[in-house]
Amino acid sequence: MPASQRRIPIESGCPDGMQYMHPVMKKNFGQWKYHEDPKPGVLKHVAHDGDEIWTVRAGTQRILDLFTLRKLCEIGDRYADGYVRFTIRSNIEFMLADGARVDPLINELERNGFIVGGTRNSVTSISHTQGWLHCDIPATDASGVVKSMMDQLIGEFRAWNMPNRVHITTSCCQINCGGQGDIAINIQHTKPPKINHDQVANVCERPSVVARCPVAAIRPAMVNGKPSLEVDERKCVCCGACYPPCPPMQINDPQHSKLAVWIGGNHSNARGRPSFQKLVAAGIPNNPPRWPEATAIVKRILAVYRQDAKDWERINDWVERIGWPRFFELTELPFTKFHIDNWRGQQKSLNASSHLRF
Ligand code: SF4
Ligand code: SF4
Repeated sequence: MPASQRRIPIESGCPDGMQYMHPVMKKNFGQWKYHEDPKPGVLKHVAHDGDEIWTVRAGTQRILDLFTLRKLCEIGDRYADGYVRFTIRSNIEFMLADGARVDPLINELERNGFIVGGTRNSVTSISHTQGWLHCDIPATDASGVVKSMMDQLIGEFRAWNMPNRVHITTSCCQINCGGQGDIAINIQHTKPPKINHDQVANVCERPSVVARCPVAAIRPAMVNGKPSLEVDERKCVCCGACYPPCPPMQINDPQHSKLAVWIGGNHSNARGRPSFQKLVAAGIPNNPPRWPEATAIVKRILAVYRQDAKDWERINDWVERIGWPRFFELTELPFTKFHIDNWRGQQKSLNASSHLRF
């Protein structure tokens, strides 16, 4: 092929989504009149010129094996002319221009073990970070947590039982790619890192590690005649930030790396201000493969939210209305000293707006 015809490689960024859109969506881009929700897991969009398109949503655990992906693509080819996309919460959506094919598609998905739902005021699929499969610093799994928790919440994924939508997230460390959600299950290290001094000189760039600590708890030190590091444990907040640039500063620990549940995070400013999530339960065992203790707490919070919140209140709106003391009373979660954020550096590091600054 002559050089002029060769595709120019694009090294970064995602490709233009327009090329993958269903033709009805492309034709009516920006021209939608309204949309409705005919039933759980199905959306119907109607354009000004009368064109209609249906979307059928099924849950996945995000990290998918090749056979499952092939199966989903096969179903997409057969029932949705090959037009599928993944949502930010790892649900797969099939786009159809013919409403008569919606029910056969749902039947086929359910026959193959996929669950249709996750729209409107349901508990949609949990969004997770990479976990043991891809990342070098996780203290817990990702897809495994989603699978085991969603097994317990499957009824809430399929139905419209909640006062408003519920977004759940999980994070396998405290510092990097975790998101915030109505409910978040995050790792919480409870002791400072343990340093393998023999390895530090070979593996770590000591100035980078020292610079990385948010509370200046790490200092260069000579140990057994070798250059190493030391941690001021009175300052350390057990964040885990030193572990990625310096793996000999091991912080993962089966006993002391726990799970914590946070609630009320909301990026949206549609009805009120965006809000940061707040800690409601800590010290929960990080207990693979089913994480029953964390799942039980999430289920308890959801049951109380469902019963006590008014229509359209997200979890943060609900807690703001009833107040935190009432939240702890209703959920019967213990309120401890660990719920009080008394870290003196937080005024500078947390912002009052929805934008994070570094
Ligand atoms: S949350 Fe942390 S441990 Fe998990 S994938 Fe992201 S960077 Fe890795
Ligand atoms: S865990 Fe965090 S606070 Fe503690 S030494 Fe490492 S970077 Fe500093």
